[in-house]
Amino acid sequence: MSSGSGGNSVYIEAEGKRILIDAGLSEKKLSQRIALIDRPLSGLDAVFATHEHSDHIRGIGPLLRKHQLSLFTTEGTYKKAYRSMGKLPGFNPIRAGQPVDFGELVVEPYATPHDAEESVAFVIHYRGLRLGIATDLGRVTQYVINKLQKLDALLIEANHDVDMLDAGPYPWVTKRRIKSDVGHLSNEACGELLSSVKHSGLRIVVLMHMSETNNHPELARITAQQALGHDSPKMIIAEQNHPTPLMLL
Ligand SMILES: [Zn+2]
Ligand SMILES: [Zn+2]
Repeated sequence: MSSGSGGNSVYIEAEGKRILIDAGLSEKKLSQRIALIDRPLSGLDAVFATHEHSDHIRGIGPLLRKHQLSLFTTEGTYKKAYRSMGKLPGFNPIRAGQPVDFGELVVEPYATPHDAEESVAFVIHYRGLRLGIATDLGRVTQYVINKLQKLDALLIEANHDVDMLDAGPYPWVTKRRIKSDVGHLSNEACGELLSSVKHSGLRIVVLMHMSETNNHPELARITAQQALGHDSPKMIIAEQNHPTPLMLL
């Protein structure tokens, strides 16, 4: 429903089960965005959080209190985010490698190299379909590559163009953080990950968490397309200020 350093949120549904991954927008904005894809914000089965950075948890406290939902996240994220989220109706601890089931919809957390306490991303399984989410990753590791094999769809970070970041207005320490092993994936690193996980069954790729200051959608798209080669899957660029249309797998 939104992606970028200003706030991230991904909505997933399968046969009546409805979940949200991250709520980096206010409850009000989230309900406006989800209305644009003809869904209500009420009646969610679960809200997950990947890590404690504000662009992922900003709206979580008000959202969960309003709808009386509990949060699914790691102990590390919960501890770090507790203060900014405030008291929640409930907390379900999750761990990398331990899938959570909602009927046939299965959410599998995996650990990510990022400068957060116990950050995770997810692979979602439903009746043999696999959707991977890979954002807020400092680098491409073999573990991440292994987790993202045989996907039908992949939501992947293409955060910055290295030259634009270097030449851009961010302070030196922020640039160093973004480029570090626990920062964000550049377009090139996104391409490297795509070329390691591409296969004929990959039908949709969504470029995510794109910096408005340090990237250009066309640069990211070209790099990703080059990595995917011929017969590349459908490619969509997730935006900060508009929801991506619902995609059917
Ligand atoms: Zn982050
Ligand atoms: Zn982020």
